[in-house]
Amino acid sequence: GLDLTQFEVGDLIGEGAFGQVYVASHKRSKRVKVALKCMVKSQQDRYLDIDGHSTPVLAEVAMMLRLMKAPRCPNIIRLHNWLEIEDNFVLILEYAESCQTLLQYIKDTADIEENQARQLMRQLIRAIMFCSERGVFHGDIHTANILVTLPRLELKLIDFGCAQPITQKPFNKSDYRGAGHGMPPEALRCRVFHANPAYVWTIGIMLYEIMHGRLAFNNRQSIMFGAIQIHPRLSTACVDLISQCLIRNPAKRLQLHQVEEHCWFNPTTPNPV
Ligand code: ADP
Ligand code: MG
Ligand code: MG
Repeated sequence: GLDLTQFEVGDLIGEGAFGQVYVASHKRSKRVKVALKCMVKSQQDRYLDIDGHSTPVLAEVAMMLRLMKAPRCPNIIRLHNWLEIEDNFVLILEYAESCQTLLQYIKDTADIEENQARQLMRQLIRAIMFCSERGVFHGDIHTANILVTLPRLELKLIDFGCAQPITQKPFNKSDYRGAGHGMPPEALRCRVFHANPAYVWTIGIMLYEIMHGRLAFNNRQSIMFGAIQIHPRLSTACVDLISQCLIRNPAKRLQLHQVEEHCWFNPTTPNPV
């Protein structure tokens, strides 16, 4: 069986709302580093059924397992295994080496160039489309839940603690467990929302934040009614993509499968003069 004594636990590498994350190495396979996400069990924990298990597992685990069946997406952190030890859950995750959160990357980098932003957004969209196809709504995509490796800018989506299975039925506002500033406007206005339009809203929010170094909207009032202030240095294509993802009416918003085809992702090389 698997237990924690098989790992040599190292430094604390992250702290979120619900747990501590430590880097560790597997003693037998010496150099294989993992990230141990340790959480204390609580009354609020959600559990879901998964194939091959007689009892429901932590929703975060169940949702990640849907994404771990081959072929996997390189832009989603891998779940190797998990443990329940008395009052604790421990997720054994792929360790993203020489990485930082997108939050930190944005803080450290003034005026991120569109080429870099495009590279990051392509990978984020790949991760999101993969989740959507596997019936997983992440529900908490923000800059502290995205890791970026330096200098190559490889992106990994993490933290499925708020994830939900996608069904035919729309989600209710109360199903949304992620950070409030990521809530799509239809959840606030109509109290129901669908996964894909909410994902597209998130794509707009993330691209805005990468290009401006700050949130597009700070509170519920501005999510519903606020005008977005776009920096004049942005290209027309970039402004158009942000605007189309942040259309408040989900029926008029760009659709998830259209995002990748937007002209911002397909820049034509300028003709030499
Ligand atoms: P929470 O659910 O408490 O928010 P997260 O899963 O978001 O926990 O992890 C908290 C922080 O730990 C992240 O913001 C990140 O800095 C770090 N972290 C999490 N997983 C990894 C990983 N696999 N590799 C490297 N750092 C990680
Ligand atoms: Mg988190
Ligand atoms: Mg979380």
